[in-house]
Amino acid sequence: MMLIDCPSCKKKISDKAKACQHCDFTVGANDADALLRKKKMERYAKHQSLQTQSFVAMLLFLTGFGMMYWGEPEIGSNQHSLAMLICVVGFAWYIINRARLVMIKGFNFKFWKI
Ligand SMILES: [Zn+2]
Repeated sequence: MMLIDCPSCKKKISDKAKACQHCDFTVGANDADALLRKKKMERYAKHQSLQTQSFVAMLLFLTGFGMMYWGEPEIGSNQHSLAMLICVVGFAWYIINRARLVMIKGFNFKFWKI
């Protein structure tokens, strides 16, 4: 716990106090808002990053699929193995990212309900 100056009456108050005990000035509201904004921004950035990763994963999957579909590699050849690998990795990555996105959204929902 730290003592800070009340922005209104300049008396010493606890930094944990929601309002000044001397003049009832509401302090910490701005800090709480800033904290909330920061958390929102972090979640947004995380959300954006996951969406980008989902997109890349989808491209990877389509690349692998395209290699198999249009490349028509012989089964057992290196190209076929590579196409299969890209397909599987892309698909798994995509599913994981979608699950993580849903988790973040679920967390958001609960967060706003409070
Ligand atoms: Zn005060």
